[in-house]
Amino acid sequence: MPEVPFNRAYLAGNETGYVAQAIASGATGGDGSFTKKASALVSSLTGTTSTLLTTSCTHALELSALLLDIGPGDEIIMPSFTFTSTANAFVLRGATPVFVDIRPDTLNLDERLIENAVTGRTRAIVVVHYAGVACEMAAILAIANRHRLVVVEDNAHGLGGSYAGRPLGSFGVLATQSFHVTKNVQCGEGGALAIGDERLSERAEIVREKGTDRARFFRGQVDKYCWRELGSSYLPSDVLAAYLLGQLEAFPDIQGKRLRIWSTYDDALADWSAEHGIQRPTVPADRTHPAHLYYLLLPTAPARDEFIRHLAERGVRAAHHYQPLHSAPAGRRYARTAGCPVTEDIADRLVRLPLFAGMTAAELEHVVVSAISYAPAVVTT
Ligand SMILES: *Cc1c(COP(=O)(O)O)cnc(C)c1O
Repeated sequence: MPEVPFNRAYLAGNETGYVAQAIASGATGGDGSFTKKASALVSSLTGTTSTLLTTSCTHALELSALLLDIGPGDEIIMPSFTFTSTANAFVLRGATPVFVDIRPDTLNLDERLIENAVTGRTRAIVVVHYAGVACEMAAILAIANRHRLVVVEDNAHGLGGSYAGRPLGSFGVLATQSFHVTKNVQCGEGGALAIGDERLSERAEIVREKGTDRARFFRGQVDKYCWRELGSSYLPSDVLAAYLLGQLEAFPDIQGKRLRIWSTYDDALADWSAEHGIQRPTVPADRTHPAHLYYLLLPTAPARDEFIRHLAERGVRAAHHYQPLHSAPAGRRYARTAGCPVTEDIADRLVRLPLFAGMTAAELEHVVVSAISYAPAVVTT
């Protein structure tokens, strides 16, 4: 059995042809015809009316911070169990991330701890739907309303997921997507910003176009374009959008494959995990997830490391995930927290199994057989 990688980029079929078409057209700048088609598909998946493609999810988060006029002294509530970009985007504007701990079941922001972290300087709550399983959105939106805070969804894991029948990406005033090569739908590096507020969408277009109203100029709405406000360049080439369109059009195919792999893991590992005190993912009944990742929580940190080694010896590449941001050097410098003990515990015990749309039946079988041949040592204290 050859090695099973942690991830292998999946090609749905039309990507290369679309990329060739985009190059041949000569119109390889941003906001071309492929960008328009890809944006419309992202809007339909997130249930929003306005989507702007960006060069990454990181950039969509930076764009969000600019659009919300976040500045020095502002505080942003977010989990510590996330990628650095969630925090960096706001620190770049001079704001302070305030890390709130996660729930031990869904590994999402613990809504019961949010209100304690709200101060007169709090501006926003950034939620991350870990593994594409939604946060407790009803409670979080109620807290946001009570304190007049905006909600931003870092929806890098959640495209295609839902909460109470509503698509993820439709809850925040802004929601960011990632099309990095490790995500369900990818173009190497890419992202999008879904905008739930009409007043922000016009400004978003300006901020993303170096602070100019060039998009309006190209539509013939103004006769010259100029520097309107603070901005940057977050606009991907239409060549990348062509790649992305090939993936987005195959979304049902990609998702069908990923969900099948996810369910196979969850069924095949059920008895083994119960026997050894290993926790499988929790998906509450009122939400669906897009099979972004499959994780297990081992009973102890040494068992997790040993399990990763056990799989590696059998050619299976499994991986841990986020190292807590609050205890990282930059987290200590730029952010604050009242403590995140659950985050620390989870980060030490979590392992992700290989999961990608092109995984063969033999690869899947090999991962399962390799996993269930492991038994954590019983620790007596
Ligand atoms: C992948 C990821 C990002 C960053 O996405 P890029 O497109 O690589 O910038 C941000 N947040 C979360 C939660 C992610 O998983």
